[in-house]
Amino acid sequence: MISQLRRCTKCVLPETHETIMFDEQGVCNICRQHEYKQTEIDWDARKKELDKLVEEYRGKYDYDCIIPFSGGKDSAFTAYYLMREYGLKPLLVRFHHGFLRPQLYENTRKLIRKLGVDLLDFTANWQAVQKFMLQSFLEKGDFCWHCHTGIFAYPMWVAIRYNIPLIFWGEASAEYTSYYQYDEIEEVDEKRFHRFVDLGITAQDMYVRLDGAVSERDLKPFTYPPIKELRKMSMDVCNP
Ligand SMILES: [Zn+2]
Repeated sequence: MISQLRRCTKCVLPETHETIMFDEQGVCNICRQHEYKQTEIDWDARKKELDKLVEEYRGKYDYDCIIPFSGGKDSAFTAYYLMREYGLKPLLVRFHHGFLRPQLYENTRKLIRKLGVDLLDFTANWQAVQKFMLQSFLEKGDFCWHCHTGIFAYPMWVAIRYNIPLIFWGEASAEYTSYYQYDEIEEVDEKRFHRFVDLGITAQDMYVRLDGAVSERDLKPFTYPPIKELRKMSMDVCNP
């Protein structure tokens, strides 16, 4: 029964939430991470690290960086901050998973006009996506395999294609899970991708399971690029 689930005494997340643990006070590890974020991190020192990173890449390529961009608050703020605070020229890259709300288009239109920024919008083949959704739902109870993998893999392909080695993600996963904690720098890399993004189903697994219903090319936007392609650019991927 859902009412019998143990819950965090602070944020009410249930015991079924991924990576959750409770301490003696019944407070969850994700709440504790937030306390750490508010009190323990030297944000002035982090800002200096960010300054250094930005200067390393500024002006070297057609764009200074990529910002994977849904149009939600996190990626919109990341774009706003990097442009207003640093004067960067980013390329916003949106992987459209097929479920964006109408209001989001309007918000995006306003934001990109006001900031004066380029947006690359990609929508994957819906017929293939429907097959991924069904397979993922039957196997994992989560139909959004294409969202998770596409959001994190597709911008990496764009980085390779446009030769833009710096990517800024809008959120740290420590905001809502404990795969990574705020005391470590979370690099958005292939290890992280297979650790929890792809639900334990790689694009190759999906190809085999769908048994000819989609092509390997259909799966490319959902595949993490080969490490040797990424190394060519000496990727630097971080959460601000
Ligand atoms: Zn909590």
